[in-house]
Amino acid sequence: MQKSDIGLIGLAVMGENLVMNMESKGFSVSVYNRSTDKVKHFVEGRGKGKKILGTYSIQEFTESLKTPRKIMMMVKAGNPVDELIEQLIPYLSKGDVLIDGGNSHYLDSMRRTKYLEEKGFYFIGTGVSGGEEGALLGPSIMPGGSPEAWPLVKPIFQAIAAKVEDGSPCCDWVGEGGAGHFVKMVHNGIEYGDMQLICESYQLMKDLLGYDADAIHAVFDEWNRGELNSYLIEITRDIMGVKDEDGQPLVDKILDAAGQKGTGKWTVTAALDQGVPLTLIGEAVFARSLSAMKEERVKASRVFTGPAIKAPGDKKAFCEAIRQALYASKIVSYAQGYALMRAAAENYGWHLNYGGIALMWRGGCIIRSIFLGKIKEAFDKNPDLENLMLDGFFKDVLEKAQESWRNVVARAVLNGIPVPAMSSALAYYDGYRTARLPANLLQAQRDYFGAHTFERVDRPRGEFFHHNWTGRG
Ligand code: NAP
Repeated sequence: MQKSDIGLIGLAVMGENLVMNMESKGFSVSVYNRSTDKVKHFVEGRGKGKKILGTYSIQEFTESLKTPRKIMMMVKAGNPVDELIEQLIPYLSKGDVLIDGGNSHYLDSMRRTKYLEEKGFYFIGTGVSGGEEGALLGPSIMPGGSPEAWPLVKPIFQAIAAKVEDGSPCCDWVGEGGAGHFVKMVHNGIEYGDMQLICESYQLMKDLLGYDADAIHAVFDEWNRGELNSYLIEITRDIMGVKDEDGQPLVDKILDAAGQKGTGKWTVTAALDQGVPLTLIGEAVFARSLSAMKEERVKASRVFTGPAIKAPGDKKAFCEAIRQALYASKIVSYAQGYALMRAAAENYGWHLNYGGIALMWRGGCIIRSIFLGKIKEAFDKNPDLENLMLDGFFKDVLEKAQESWRNVVARAVLNGIPVPAMSSALAYYDGYRTARLPANLLQAQRDYFGAHTFERVDRPRGEFFHHNWTGRG
């Protein structure tokens, strides 16, 4: 019997579509699913007449694969992945590769890489972004784990990945251990930030400028033709144009209570663990939490009175200022996300290719945008770039946008419209470019109550002093 190039376990939305994608690129695929009726349904339905082999036990599945085996798991993240690994191990040979393409936590991928390598197997934990459509037509794929396994799966992964204009695949080796899932997690956090920034822009247009959905649709349409061109701006434009059955904008009828699945929270938790200020994404996660307190907010809206809205005189000019504030804040968000990846790479000993990461996100995923091309250029120019904001291109944009950005945040504050992402971005920018922050006082306070000591500006770093602040003995 002809053996398959690759095997995939988990025939839910993502798994099925990835198999169809692999097959369409010329690879033969064996499939297996815990509930085997799904195997039959798939091979006799969508998979009929294709180089897709249905198997009905783990043994049959593993025996149907070319060695070294390449086995991709697309099952629920968490325990199911560990359970499946244990079921597969007795049937594996040295050098086989297990690939987890689910939304697993990077610490689990680090643990699984070590565990499987110790047994003589390879492990790849890979982020797969782009949802159902991406899986079928070309996702962004972010693989990490055992470097030795990369050449074995590279031809398949790069064939099925999304491609940018010049044909480059949105998939490259990310790094060792949990690096792939870490980068996917940061991608999801950045997605939270991008969405929040767009939502704040929408609220400013709606509540400060008094624009209706049609007017906002036109603005996003225009923005999508410039430097903000991206999937999220594009879908926001489309959403603004959709009417309910009564002809009213559907967006106006949607309850303002946001959901979240937890990857934003993971990103912020990782940032706290690494000691990296990831303020914009943090605000984006908390903005969702605040939105979910709908009943409490409605009650509070009857208790507290904010200022009366005073719309700016030149609405068109202010709208352009909002665009610049969004763009500048987005740069800060990516700068923070990259700083987080840099810190984790240092901590875990990963060799991350920062330009390559931007390219992987350039197509196939939710945050795809032309902006990412600029990030790739920045890291191609200087792979050791300390902070994205320091790159010449981004520095110029920030400087040019600065006045508008401050105006937008100030006017939002004066009018009582919350812009947590835009204002935290501005605070980070101002903090980052401030040579002397008030942490001298903070250190004095810490030394006062806890004898935590401080360094002095007139002495070398690393020399610590304690002062008897009260004069008591
Ligand atoms: P899912 O609903 O997350 O998972 C369903 C699949 O997991 C089914 O095949 C199910 O088998 C299998 N499964 C659950 N527990 C299992 C166990 N203990 N042992 C073996 N198999 C088990 O499916 P999905 O939405 O296609 O997502 C797959 C993975 O990709 C997840 O990690 C998800 O987070 C990630 N992901 C999803 C998307 C998306 O847009 N949906 C995008 C990117 C990444 P049965 O049929 O037997 O129940």
